[in-house]
Amino acid sequence: MGEFVPSNVHWEKQNVSGFDPDNNKVMLENGDHLNYEYLIVALGITPDYQRVPGLLEALETAPNVCTNYDAKYVSKTFPAIQNTKKGTALFTHPDTPVKCAGAPQKIMYLAEDQIRKSGLRNDVDVAFAHPGPAIFGVKKYAEQLAKVVAEKDIKTYFHHALKELDYKNNLAVFHNIKEPDSPVKVSIPYEMIHVSPPFKPPSPIASNPKMAAAQSGYLDVNTQTLQHNKYENIFGLGDNINIVSTKTAAAAAAQTGIVQKNLQSVMDKKKPSVFYDGYTSCPLVTGANKGILAEFDGNGEPLQTFPSFFGQHKEKKIWYYLKAHVMPTLYWYGMVKGPWTGPKALRKMFTLGMGR
Ligand SMILES: Cc1cc2nc3c(=O)[nH]c(=O)nc-3n(C[C@H](O)[C@H](O)[C@H](O)COP(=O)(O)OP(=O)(O)OC[C@H]3O[C@@H](n4cnc5c(N)ncnc54)[C@H](O)[C@@H]3O)c2cc1C
Repeated sequence: MGEFVPSNVHWEKQNVSGFDPDNNKVMLENGDHLNYEYLIVALGITPDYQRVPGLLEALETAPNVCTNYDAKYVSKTFPAIQNTKKGTALFTHPDTPVKCAGAPQKIMYLAEDQIRKSGLRNDVDVAFAHPGPAIFGVKKYAEQLAKVVAEKDIKTYFHHALKELDYKNNLAVFHNIKEPDSPVKVSIPYEMIHVSPPFKPPSPIASNPKMAAAQSGYLDVNTQTLQHNKYENIFGLGDNINIVSTKTAAAAAAQTGIVQKNLQSVMDKKKPSVFYDGYTSCPLVTGANKGILAEFDGNGEPLQTFPSFFGQHKEKKIWYYLKAHVMPTLYWYGMVKGPWTGPKALRKMFTLGMGR
């Protein structure tokens, strides 16, 4: 990270413990505080392991329980897949906002591929438990992903929210929430489980009613200008803002462009004048060399960069290639360094070129 912090930026290596927006102060964990004239808040989201009793202990101790959602545990995932020779490889999606809503299933497709290549697919069932009614929230991509799931013979449990991990007995306990008022308890045995944990807003925001949106606890910004709804000199971007659907790096990149311009306007004593369209993207890896490039807006409507004949919703090698080989460079040198603020200009160019 240090290599990417510009030399003229002071990096305060302290956790933020709170905000005092009336006095333009950020409180730090060591008891100090920082003063600001303008503030951009981007604290991400926080895994809420306590919501699933047994999960944290299992991640700490059980080799067959893993998650890609935490740098501390991600290295357990591949060995857990390799060690699964029979029974069920189970993958879960949380019943809270989650970063990259495709990631809980991407790892499942890669695992399925790996188990198939090892010649063990007849001995290992692959299953996916999701609290919603469909494999993905955007119909156009959900239809294709449903085909992928059927082709790969993956068992699905919809309306299933993980509530407890009885890891000593290799049992995942779900609530079938089809009838939310009277959920049914369902225990699914597993040989290995990849858990995408529940998430919550970062505590320095959630614990401060001046900063947080009352309903969600996420940063209370105008969802178009990304300016704070109460404090004109505060902006927010990334996973910690109060938009459920857009918790991706792709969304954060697009929001960066909006915040840059609107913050400049405020500094120039003008009103924010550019508006975020809710763009988010999820390149869904569906196997070792295939993928679907989902891009959509805050209403769950497709908002695609490439002209329709490219077939972003179809499983293709090109989308895998883009994800595995182009996006890392785009991330490190485009997004983190600043110039990449999402594909809006590219989309406009294609739209004009195609006469759309
Ligand atoms: C397995 C996985 C796959 C993903 N796949 C994709 C994908 O294919 N495409 C995509 O676009 N996105 C993907 N994402 C999502 C993407 O990583 C996030 O949406 C993105 O990182 C959000 O950026 P952010 O800056 O808001 O938050 P983060 O990247 O989480 O950064 C927040 C930063 O704030 C720091 N922080 C937190 N609390 C404090 C505090 N109190 N004080 C000081 N610092 C603090 C953290 O240490 C961190 O550095 C994926 C995520 C995961 C986990």
